[in-house]
Amino acid sequence: MQTVEYIQKLTAIPSPTGYTQKVIQYVNETLQSFGYKPQITAKGGLLVTVKGENDKQQRFVTAHVDTLGAMVRAIKPNGRLKIDLIGGFGYSSIEGENCLVHLSGSERTISGTILMHQTSVHVYKDARTAERNQENMEVRLDAKVFNEEDVRQLGIEVGDFISFDARTQVTDLGFIKSRHLDDKVSAAILMNQLRQIKEDGLTLPFTTHFAFSTFEEVGHGMNSNIPSEVVEYLAVDMGAMGDDQQTDEYSVSICVKDGSGPYHFAFRQHLVQLCKENAIDYKLDIYPYYASDASAALSAGAEVKHALFGAGIESSHAYERTHIESVQATEQLVHAYLFSPLV
Ligand SMILES: [Zn+2]
Repeated sequence: MQTVEYIQKLTAIPSPTGYTQKVIQYVNETLQSFGYKPQITAKGGLLVTVKGENDKQQRFVTAHVDTLGAMVRAIKPNGRLKIDLIGGFGYSSIEGENCLVHLSGSERTISGTILMHQTSVHVYKDARTAERNQENMEVRLDAKVFNEEDVRQLGIEVGDFISFDARTQVTDLGFIKSRHLDDKVSAAILMNQLRQIKEDGLTLPFTTHFAFSTFEEVGHGMNSNIPSEVVEYLAVDMGAMGDDQQTDEYSVSICVKDGSGPYHFAFRQHLVQLCKENAIDYKLDIYPYYASDASAALSAGAEVKHALFGAGIESSHAYERTHIESVQATEQLVHAYLFSPLV
């Protein structure tokens, strides 16, 4: 499935929020190869507008390519790095993860591993119980360094971005395991839809702006460039799984309400109707601790109807998992929506 290939390509490119030039370059080049002329916005997002039969009422569809990550907070006297997190997650979810430090002054990266300072059970009595927090967790660099000066010699400086190894795997039974499926699954889906539109010479009913956002994980997204003709704003972003959630890895999850409040009722019902008409498996859910680029658009003052749906992502903001069936259901709903009448 072409979309799964795009997921693998996207997750292989490190793109913590604030350091997304390479992933945007990849999406830009891919869309150009389809025949589009995307624009890179001042903030560093990518926008491509597909003209529709109706140009007066327009749609805005977005997915984000930025991910969780970290930044060098300080260089410790023992030659390890203290880190500061980018995005919302706990230190326990990155314990033991391999990482790359992206030197700010060059294209070089230096590998390492994120560990508790007190990891060795042979030495530290509190290895099991010590709190996983900024004080105790650090980056062990794969370099012969013994002190702060050695680390500075490598070219590492406060403010260097740190990305986590995504460890993407696709199993024989169709599970996709990786970090950052949030939201590279959705970005891959939009890329594949754009490919199909060109290849099959399809015309959308309404002019639609496709936005690849680069600041979702920190809340402000890509919402300062919404044309005034836009009346519907769809964020394609992950569905949250857990206790009291109906969302699973085999259907599309439609968000009815999240931490920012309810999504537009008529828009949500329109999506449900499209699922019913097209026999797409769907689940409705509330995501309690969540906000999206669609809710950010409303906070920024956009006068639009807003909606959010996406693939069900297990263990979100950690080592995530979904299934190809959820990716397919989500893509079917994106496709049905793009060709549907206005809400
Ligand atoms: Zn997301």
